[in-house]
Amino acid sequence: MATIKPIEGRSVHQIQSGQVIVDLCSVVKELVENSLDAGATSIGRIPSPAPDVELDVRFKGNGLDAIEVQDNGNGIAPEDFETIALKHYTSKLSSYDDLTSLHTFGFRGEALSSLCALSNFHITTARASDVPRGTKLDFEQSGKLKSKSVIASQKGTTVAVEKIFQNLPVRRKELEKNIKREYAKVLSLLQSYACISTGVRFSVSNHPGKGNKVVAFSTKSNSSTRDNISNVYGAKTVLALLTLDLELEMQSASGPSTQSARSWGTQDDGSKKIQVRGHISRPVVGEGRQTPDRQMFFVNSRPCTLPQVAKAINEVYKSYNVTQSPFIFANLLMDTNAYDVNVSPDKRTILLHDQTALLESLKSSLVELFDRHDQSVPQASL
Ligand code: ADP
Ligand code: MG
Repeated sequence: MATIKPIEGRSVHQIQSGQVIVDLCSVVKELVENSLDAGATSIGRIPSPAPDVELDVRFKGNGLDAIEVQDNGNGIAPEDFETIALKHYTSKLSSYDDLTSLHTFGFRGEALSSLCALSNFHITTARASDVPRGTKLDFEQSGKLKSKSVIASQKGTTVAVEKIFQNLPVRRKELEKNIKREYAKVLSLLQSYACISTGVRFSVSNHPGKGNKVVAFSTKSNSSTRDNISNVYGAKTVLALLTLDLELEMQSASGPSTQSARSWGTQDDGSKKIQVRGHISRPVVGEGRQTPDRQMFFVNSRPCTLPQVAKAINEVYKSYNVTQSPFIFANLLMDTNAYDVNVSPDKRTILLHDQTALLESLKSSLVELFDRHDQSVPQASL
C-alpha cells in the first residue's frame, strides 16, 4: 500500500492559515488593510485611501476575546457573500502581472479564509444603497458561507474575530501568556497605519474585561502626517522633529539601457530617483529618545520593516547624538518596479532592488540635512 498520501483538505487549510495569521499583529494588520482598501482610490500614490474614511478598531480583553474593525467603506455586494472568505478569492488582483501596478494593500486573498479557520469569525456589511439595512454573515471554518441575516447597519463593513487561535491550543496559550506584550506590539503597528493614513479618522479602543473602555488613541480626518503624529504621540514629540524631504539620486551601475535601470522607471541617463518623506528627531542631544521604539518605515505609504534602512539612519544619527535614538517616520517613494512586496505572507518584508546604492545615497543626504540643522559638530565621520 502506498505510504505517500495527500493531507486531508481541512488540515491543509489549517496548516496554511497558521502561517498567514501568526499572531495578534497579523490579524489586526489584515483587517485594517482591508478596511483601508475598501475606501481606497486608485489615483495617485499607492496605497491611497480616499478622504473621509473612518476606521474604528475595538479590542476586547486586549484582543484575546475579540477584535473588531469597523469601516465606512464601500461595503460588500451580495454577489460576493458566498466567495468572500474562500482561499485566494480577491477583488484586487487577478494575475501575477497585476502586482506591479497594484493600488491596494491586499492582493493574496488569504486573510479572511485564514481567519475563518482560526477563530469565531463574522462580518456585517452594507453598501450605501442598502442602508439602513445590512447583512450579517457567518462562515464555516473552511470559509464557506454558513448563514446570513438582515440587520440594521450603517454604510461600511465590520469584521469581528473572536477567540483567535481557539483551535491551535499551543498558540492560544502563548498568546494568553504574552498578551500584554502582544497588545503593545499591536498598538505600535496601528500607530504606523494611523500616522501614514492622512484623510482617515482612526480610533482605537480596548475593553480590558474589567472596568471601562479605554481609548488608546485617535486621529482626525483631513490631517497631515504631522497632525497624525501629534495626535498619536503628543504635541511635544512633534516639536522635536525635522521634516525629511530627501531626493536620493543614484547612478545606475549597469547604465541606461538595461532592464534594471529601466525598471526604476525614471531618468534617461540611467540615474534613479527615490524620495524620502517624513519626520525625524533633530540630532541635538535632548531631542532624541532613550530607546529606538518610535521608528516607522513605509514604501509608497505601505507600512513595512526595512532593517537596513533603519540601521543606516540610526548610524548617521548616532554620529551626532551618541546618547539617544531618533524618532523616525520615513516614507520611501519609488517606482513600483523597484521593489517586491510578495516576499512573505504578511507583506511586511520588502525586497528593495539595489539597496546598497540606496543606503549610500540616504546616508550622505542625511548628513547634509543634519549639518544644515545642527549646531553641534559631528562626533565621528561616516
Ligand atoms: P485580499 O485583501 O488579499 O483581497 P482578503 O481575504 O483580505 O484578501 O479579503 C478578500 C476580499 O474581501 C477582498 O478582496 C475584498 O473584496 C473583500 N473585503 C475584505 N474586507 C473588506 C472590507 N472591510 N470592506 C469591503 N470589502 C472587503
Ligand atoms: Mg486583505
